[in-house]
Amino acid sequence: MPLFHASLIYTSEHPDPLEGHVLETDDKGKILNILPLERVEDRKTQIQFIEGILVPGFVNAHCHLELSHMKNMIPTGTGLVEFIKNIVRRRKEVDRQGILEAIAAGEQEMIAGGIVAVGDISNVEDTFYQKSRGLLRYHSFVEAFDLLQDEKAEAEMARAYEVWSKLHCPPGHKKSLVPHAPYSVSSSLFELLRTHPHEGESISIHHQETHAENHFFLEKSGALIDFYQTLGVSLEAFEATRAPSSLQVIQNMSAGRRTLLVHNTISTPRDIRSVEEWNEEVYWVTCPNANLYIENQLPRYLHFIEHGAKMCVGTDSLASNWQLSILEELKTIQHYQSYLTFDRLIRWATLNGALALGFEKDLGSFSPGKTPGVVQIHPFDLSRRQLMPGSRANRLI
Ligand SMILES: [Zn+2]
Repeated sequence: MPLFHASLIYTSEHPDPLEGHVLETDDKGKILNILPLERVEDRKTQIQFIEGILVPGFVNAHCHLELSHMKNMIPTGTGLVEFIKNIVRRRKEVDRQGILEAIAAGEQEMIAGGIVAVGDISNVEDTFYQKSRGLLRYHSFVEAFDLLQDEKAEAEMARAYEVWSKLHCPPGHKKSLVPHAPYSVSSSLFELLRTHPHEGESISIHHQETHAENHFFLEKSGALIDFYQTLGVSLEAFEATRAPSSLQVIQNMSAGRRTLLVHNTISTPRDIRSVEEWNEEVYWVTCPNANLYIENQLPRYLHFIEHGAKMCVGTDSLASNWQLSILEELKTIQHYQSYLTFDRLIRWATLNGALALGFEKDLGSFSPGKTPGVVQIHPFDLSRRQLMPGSRANRLI
């Protein structure tokens, strides 16, 4: 049976990393034991001495694999509304073969970078063949949006349901029908989604990614008004709620259900508090590189920590990121908000993501019985316990 030793083993279960320990797995990577080195004296010759550190496989809590063909297509720093306009305009520029090849390459990049599971948004069926191969574990979120047009809610629900039913999940995968964002889903569509019997238990929504989203609800102003105009959709029936967009989540989604709020770039302590009071099962997903790519902005992570928020990490898509790597997301967080310790960040990137997606029984931590993937990070600054710019992830089993 494989025995792995590294200077530090981050289990995502213990508050601190373990020193002087070995990780014992079976040949398929199931965790059998974590033992002090002296307890395996008799099997010393079997120990593989690994440079750097060991961490459980990463969980990418938010991705759009179907946009992989849009790498380097959209300029950075335009703001969300311009970004979405570009996506709508340009996503069909690549032919089907190119789209499928980019999806396979994107998946391969994630596997090579130590990612073992993904919360993946699907608006269309393009990723379904790749997902059916079972190379990487997915919770697929099939997204619905009717651009606040109540009269179109049923037709949109039927369209999304059709996409959802075409996804045949390999064993262990999950799928749900979910709302896109507070500003793009009518209350009728929210209700249809809320009452639909989902196979998967988690649900996801994009949330507070840009100031425009709050301006829209607070005073019916800002770039989203312009966006609706460009699309030729009337906002005559829409009235400002005079509240931040998180109120839409609270009023229209089910408390008690595992809910991934994605981005939260502009969430304030008040927003976080009101959402946490509404639903204890909220997971706050941050995609820092995408936030920098689109808005040149990051969330204030301190606010989330102060409220005990459960944080996860996502890559978003190759349309809004330079790569699909959770390790690179962690480097960015550590670079800009270095008060966050690595043992906290690694829990965000592993166990919390597994919990958010409902995969915690077998993924997310070095806990006997789980098969979470064993990932080496090397080089690693062992004295400061920090990632280095050149740190790389390498899946061992
Ligand atoms: Zn997204």
